[in-house]
Amino acid sequence: MKESIMILDACQQITDLKLVSSTWGNVSIRLENGNIIITPSGIPYDEIREEDIVLCDKDGNVIEGTLLPSSELKMHVALYAKRSDVNAIVHTHSLYASIASSIFDEVPILVEDVAMVIGSTIKVTKYKLPGTAELANEVVNIIEDGNAVIISNHGQVAVGSTMDDALLSAQMCEKAAQMYVMAIQSGRSPRALSDRDINVLYEKYVNSYKKLKEKK
Ligand SMILES: [Zn+2]
Repeated sequence: MKESIMILDACQQITDLKLVSSTWGNVSIRLENGNIIITPSGIPYDEIREEDIVLCDKDGNVIEGTLLPSSELKMHVALYAKRSDVNAIVHTHSLYASIASSIFDEVPILVEDVAMVIGSTIKVTKYKLPGTAELANEVVNIIEDGNAVIISNHGQVAVGSTMDDALLSAQMCEKAAQMYVMAIQSGRSPRALSDRDINVLYEKYVNSYKKLKEKK
């Protein structure tokens, strides 16, 4: 599938999965030549057309596009610069990640599917204003090698080597946040998976299930 069509498809999926509302959130893909395509700023997801997608270089300078790129372009540029393994990014204001972002310093992993996809406990950043270089720096520093991070009082960012992987990371981040918020409401302390077990589960997923999926 052409990358710009993958962006439109991802916009449809995050809308269908109820990870976004109105125009908030943004998605991008890093092309083979290092350039970045990203959703435009302020256009509702169901109105974005292929020609509205903005092409930028690796530093975020617009190469092609009639609309402004997403206001979080700096965050996407910084993540691609830090993580050579990442080729797709999904940023959403999903409900439970947003709730967790205003309560917790991290979201522990309670179940195996989340461990397999995200690969580490999900950290929450410090609060930084949206669209700023400070937010971009905070996100790249806190996500480290994981596949998702929760942005304080804001939402979440999920990454992957492909758009399918980034979309799955976004879903699993929201699931982790929802599970933890609901588990805490029980009044008991949920049992989290240990870092060691999360690592074993992640390696198992990357080296077996994921390879099988890619062969299909
Ligand atoms: Zn945002």
